[in-house]
Amino acid sequence: MATTLRCFAVLVAFLLAACTAELPPPAAPIAATPEMIAKLAAADAKDGTVDKCVHRCAGCALGMNGMATMPLQVGDYAMHFCKQACRDRYAEDAAGELARLKVD
Ligand SMILES: [Zn+2]
Repeated sequence: MATTLRCFAVLVAFLLAACTAELPPPAAPIAATPEMIAKLAAADAKDGTVDKCVHRCAGCALGMNGMATMPLQVGDYAMHFCKQACRDRYAEDAAGELARLKVD
């Protein structure tokens, strides 16, 4: 019984820490080349709304929903990512990542 309670307390502490964790600082905007803009336009259209926002996570090959709280500005486009690791990859090398991104 005591063990169960201790496990529960650890779980609650973990969840509280996760919920109150600070959001990462916004990444600096990135300038876009014509090649990057073409890929961004295709990715933007793929999510069903052409609004200069890529709502799907490009870090997950557009397979996951991105979050407005995990944005990266690339040229005129806002990219939403599902997690910080995905955004960090694009923040580090947006040109390379976009070149590798397949949008069918
Ligand atoms: Zn992702």
